[in-house]
Amino acid sequence: MVERDLAGRDIGDRAVLEAFRHVPRELFAPGAGPEEAYGDHPLPAGFGQTVSQPYIIAFMMQALSLSSGDRVLEIGTGSGYQTILIARVADFVYGVERLAPLARMARERLKNLGVENFRVRVGDGAGGWPENAPYDAVIVSAACPAVPAPLLEQLAPGGRLVAPVGGRWEQELVFYRKTGRRLERKFLVGCRFVPLIGPAGWGEEEKTT
Ligand code: SAH
Repeated sequence: MVERDLAGRDIGDRAVLEAFRHVPRELFAPGAGPEEAYGDHPLPAGFGQTVSQPYIIAFMMQALSLSSGDRVLEIGTGSGYQTILIARVADFVYGVERLAPLARMARERLKNLGVENFRVRVGDGAGGWPENAPYDAVIVSAACPAVPAPLLEQLAPGGRLVAPVGGRWEQELVFYRKTGRRLERKFLVGCRFVPLIGPAGWGEEEKTT
Protein backbone atom coordinates (compact mmCIF):
# COMPACT_ATOMS: atom_id res chain seq x y z
CA MET A 1 0.00 0.00 0.00
CA VAL A 2 2.79 2.41 0.93
CA GLU A 3 4.64 1.96 -2.36
CA ARG A 4 1.55 1.76 -4.57
CA ASP A 5 -0.80 4.34 -3.06
CA LEU A 6 1.48 6.79 -1.25
CA ALA A 7 5.06 6.83 -2.61
CA GLY A 8 3.66 5.88 -6.04
CA ARG A 9 1.61 9.07 -6.01
CA ASP A 10 2.92 12.34 -4.61
CA ILE A 11 3.84 11.45 -1.04
CA GLY A 12 7.59 12.02 -0.75
CA ASP A 13 7.91 12.86 2.96
CA ARG A 14 10.15 10.06 4.24
CA ALA A 15 9.04 10.30 7.86
CA VAL A 16 5.41 10.00 6.79
CA LEU A 17 6.10 6.96 4.57
CA GLU A 18 8.12 5.32 7.34
CA ALA A 19 5.29 5.82 9.85
CA PHE A 20 2.82 4.09 7.50
CA ARG A 21 5.20 1.15 7.07
CA HIS A 22 5.11 0.50 10.81
CA VAL A 23 1.41 0.75 11.60
CA PRO A 24 -0.83 -2.30 11.07
CA ARG A 25 -4.05 -0.75 9.75
CA GLU A 26 -6.11 -3.92 10.32
CA LEU A 27 -5.88 -3.33 14.09
CA PHE A 28 -7.84 -0.09 13.66
CA ALA A 29 -10.65 -1.41 11.48
CA PRO A 30 -12.55 -4.11 13.30
CA GLY A 31 -13.70 -6.78 10.88
CA ALA A 32 -11.53 -5.76 7.90
CA GLY A 33 -9.36 -8.56 6.53
CA PRO A 34 -5.75 -7.92 5.46
CA GLU A 35 -6.70 -7.34 1.79
CA GLU A 36 -9.28 -4.74 2.68
CA ALA A 37 -7.19 -3.10 5.38
CA TYR A 38 -4.48 -2.22 2.85
CA GLY A 39 -6.74 -0.82 0.17
CA ASP A 40 -6.57 2.95 -0.27
CA HIS A 41 -10.10 3.71 0.89
CA PRO A 42 -11.92 4.51 4.12
CA LEU A 43 -13.08 1.60 6.31
CA PRO A 44 -15.87 1.36 8.88
CA ALA A 45 -14.63 2.34 12.35
CA GLY A 46 -17.91 1.55 14.13
CA PHE A 47 -20.55 4.02 15.41
CA GLY A 48 -21.16 5.25 11.86
CA GLN A 49 -17.61 6.67 11.61
CA THR A 50 -14.74 5.82 9.28
CA VAL A 51 -11.04 5.06 9.43
CA SER A 52 -9.69 7.66 7.00
CA GLN A 53 -8.28 6.78 3.59
CA PRO A 54 -4.48 6.30 3.89
CA TYR A 55 -3.65 8.64 1.00
CA ILE A 56 -5.59 11.57 2.46
CA ILE A 57 -3.98 11.09 5.89
CA ALA A 58 -0.53 11.00 4.27
CA PHE A 59 -1.40 14.06 2.18
CA MET A 60 -2.51 16.03 5.26
CA MET A 61 0.54 14.99 7.27
CA GLN A 62 2.85 15.98 4.42
CA ALA A 63 1.06 19.33 4.01
CA LEU A 64 1.67 20.03 7.71
CA SER A 65 5.46 19.38 7.30
CA LEU A 66 5.47 17.57 10.64
CA SER A 67 8.77 17.19 12.43
CA SER A 68 9.94 15.42 15.58
CA GLY A 69 9.57 18.44 17.87
CA ASP A 70 5.97 19.24 16.93
CA ARG A 71 3.03 19.24 19.33
CA VAL A 72 -0.07 18.37 17.35
CA LEU A 73 -3.79 18.81 18.02
CA GLU A 74 -6.04 16.29 16.26
CA ILE A 75 -9.80 16.81 16.01
CA GLY A 76 -11.81 13.63 15.38
CA THR A 77 -9.50 10.87 16.64
CA GLY A 78 -11.91 8.12 15.59
CA SER A 79 -10.13 4.78 15.41
CA GLY A 80 -6.76 6.25 16.42
CA TYR A 81 -5.16 5.19 13.10
CA GLN A 82 -4.14 8.71 12.17
CA THR A 83 -3.22 9.48 15.80
CA ILE A 84 -0.58 6.74 15.90
CA LEU A 85 0.85 7.78 12.52
CA ILE A 86 1.26 11.35 13.78
CA ALA A 87 2.66 10.14 17.11
CA ARG A 88 5.45 8.41 15.16
CA VAL A 89 6.63 11.57 13.42
CA ALA A 90 5.82 14.29 15.98
CA ASP A 91 6.62 14.92 19.63
CA PHE A 92 3.11 14.63 21.10
CA VAL A 93 -0.48 14.29 19.85
CA TYR A 94 -3.51 15.71 21.67
CA GLY A 95 -6.64 14.09 20.24
CA VAL A 96 -10.24 15.17 20.78
CA GLU A 97 -13.02 12.70 19.95
CA ARG A 98 -16.72 13.25 20.48
CA LEU A 99 -17.70 9.59 20.93
CA ALA A 100 -16.46 8.06 24.19
CA PRO A 101 -16.33 4.42 23.02
CA LEU A 102 -14.17 5.36 20.01
CA ALA A 103 -11.85 7.42 22.22
CA ARG A 104 -11.49 4.50 24.62
CA MET A 105 -10.71 2.02 21.84
CA ALA A 106 -8.21 4.41 20.27
CA ARG A 107 -6.38 4.80 23.59
CA GLU A 108 -6.26 1.02 24.10
CA ARG A 109 -4.91 0.35 20.61
CA LEU A 110 -2.12 2.89 20.94
CA LYS A 111 -1.14 1.65 24.41
CA ASN A 112 -1.11 -1.95 23.16
CA LEU A 113 1.28 -0.89 20.42
CA GLY A 114 3.56 0.73 23.00
CA VAL A 115 2.81 4.35 22.04
CA GLU A 116 2.79 6.81 24.93
CA ASN A 117 3.25 10.28 23.42
CA PHE A 118 -0.46 11.05 23.08
CA ARG A 119 -3.62 11.87 25.01
CA VAL A 120 -7.22 11.59 23.83
CA ARG A 121 -10.08 13.42 25.50
CA VAL A 122 -13.81 13.13 24.87
CA GLY A 123 -15.59 16.31 23.84
CA ASP A 124 -16.46 18.74 21.07
CA GLY A 125 -13.23 19.36 19.20
CA ALA A 126 -14.46 22.66 17.78
CA GLY A 127 -13.18 24.31 20.96
CA GLY A 128 -9.76 22.71 20.56
CA TRP A 129 -7.89 21.86 23.75
CA PRO A 130 -6.86 25.25 25.17
CA GLU A 131 -5.04 23.88 28.22
CA ASN A 132 -2.22 22.49 26.06
CA ALA A 133 -2.11 25.24 23.43
CA PRO A 134 -0.33 26.51 21.44
CA TYR A 135 0.16 23.78 18.85
CA ASP A 136 2.66 23.56 16.01
CA ALA A 137 0.07 21.76 13.91
CA VAL A 138 -3.68 21.16 13.97
CA ILE A 139 -5.34 18.43 11.89
CA VAL A 140 -9.12 18.30 11.56
CA SER A 141 -10.57 14.95 10.48
CA ALA A 142 -14.26 15.85 10.24
CA ALA A 143 -15.93 18.14 7.72
CA CYS A 144 -16.89 21.65 8.89
CA PRO A 145 -18.62 24.61 7.18
CA ALA A 146 -15.71 26.85 8.31
CA VAL A 147 -12.62 26.33 10.44
CA PRO A 148 -13.69 26.88 14.08
CA ALA A 149 -11.98 30.06 15.34
CA PRO A 150 -10.52 28.49 18.53
CA LEU A 151 -8.45 26.11 16.40
CA LEU A 152 -6.77 28.99 14.58
CA GLU A 153 -6.30 30.83 17.89
CA GLN A 154 -4.54 27.83 19.38
CA LEU A 155 -1.90 27.73 16.64
CA ALA A 156 1.64 28.72 17.64
CA PRO A 157 3.50 31.32 15.56
CA GLY A 158 4.58 29.42 12.44
CA GLY A 159 1.87 26.85 13.17
CA ARG A 160 0.00 25.02 10.39
CA LEU A 161 -3.56 23.70 10.18
CA VAL A 162 -5.40 21.49 7.68
CA ALA A 163 -9.15 20.94 7.65
CA PRO A 164 -11.87 19.72 5.27
CA VAL A 165 -14.07 22.78 4.77
CA GLY A 166 -17.26 22.97 2.73
CA GLY A 167 -20.58 21.16 2.46
CA ARG A 168 -21.75 18.15 4.34
CA TRP A 169 -21.00 15.73 1.51
CA GLU A 170 -18.09 17.39 -0.28
CA GLN A 171 -15.33 19.65 0.95
CA GLU A 172 -11.98 21.11 0.08
CA LEU A 173 -8.92 20.56 2.16
CA VAL A 174 -7.81 23.98 3.40
CA PHE A 175 -4.34 24.79 4.68
CA TYR A 176 -3.53 27.67 7.04
CA ARG A 177 -0.18 28.94 8.27
CA LYS A 178 0.16 31.52 11.02
CA THR A 179 3.00 33.94 10.39
CA GLY A 180 3.20 36.63 13.04
CA ARG A 181 -0.28 38.07 13.09
CA ARG A 182 -1.13 37.01 9.58
CA LEU A 183 -2.91 33.89 8.45
CA GLU A 184 -1.95 32.54 5.06
CA ARG A 185 -4.59 30.29 3.49
CA LYS A 186 -4.65 27.99 0.49
CA PHE A 187 -6.92 25.32 -0.92
CA LEU A 188 -5.26 21.97 -1.54
CA VAL A 189 -7.61 19.33 -2.93
CA GLY A 190 -11.23 18.14 -2.95
CA CYS A 191 -12.14 15.59 -0.30
CA ARG A 192 -15.00 13.85 1.50
CA PHE A 193 -15.07 13.46 5.28
CA VAL A 194 -17.77 12.53 7.79
CA PRO A 195 -19.32 15.68 9.36
CA LEU A 196 -18.10 17.48 12.44
CA ILE A 197 -21.05 17.22 14.81
CA GLY A 198 -22.02 20.13 17.07
CA PRO A 199 -22.73 23.85 17.02
CA ALA A 200 -19.66 24.69 14.89
CA GLY A 201 -20.31 21.84 12.47
CA TRP A 202 -23.61 20.26 11.66
CA GLY A 203 -26.32 19.73 14.30
CA GLU A 204 -27.01 16.39 15.79
CA GLU A 205 -26.37 13.26 13.80
CA GLU A 206 -29.40 11.61 12.23
CA LYS A 207 -30.24 8.46 14.05
CA THR A 208 -29.49 5.41 11.94
CA THR A 209 -32.03 2.69 12.62
N1 SAH B 1 -8.72 9.99 11.36
C1 SAH B 1 -9.79 9.23 11.93
C2 SAH B 1 -11.06 9.67 11.25
C3 SAH B 1 -12.29 9.47 12.04
S1 SAH B 1 -13.75 10.02 11.26
C4 SAH B 1 -9.49 7.76 11.69
O1 SAH B 1 -8.69 7.48 10.80
O2 SAH B 1 -10.03 6.90 12.36
C5 SAH B 1 -14.04 11.55 12.11
C6 SAH B 1 -14.22 11.47 13.61
O3 SAH B 1 -14.60 12.77 14.06
C7 SAH B 1 -15.30 10.52 14.08
O4 SAH B 1 -14.75 9.61 14.97
C8 SAH B 1 -16.31 11.43 14.79
O5 SAH B 1 -16.92 10.83 15.91
C9 SAH B 1 -15.45 12.60 15.18
N2 SAH B 1 -16.17 13.86 15.41
C10 SAH B 1 -17.25 14.35 14.77
N3 SAH B 1 -17.61 15.54 15.27
C11 SAH B 1 -16.72 15.82 16.27
C12 SAH B 1 -16.56 16.92 17.16
N4 SAH B 1 -17.36 17.98 17.15
N5 SAH B 1 -15.51 16.85 18.05
C13 SAH B 1 -14.69 15.79 18.08
N6 SAH B 1 -14.79 14.73 17.26
C14 SAH B 1 -15.79 14.73 16.36
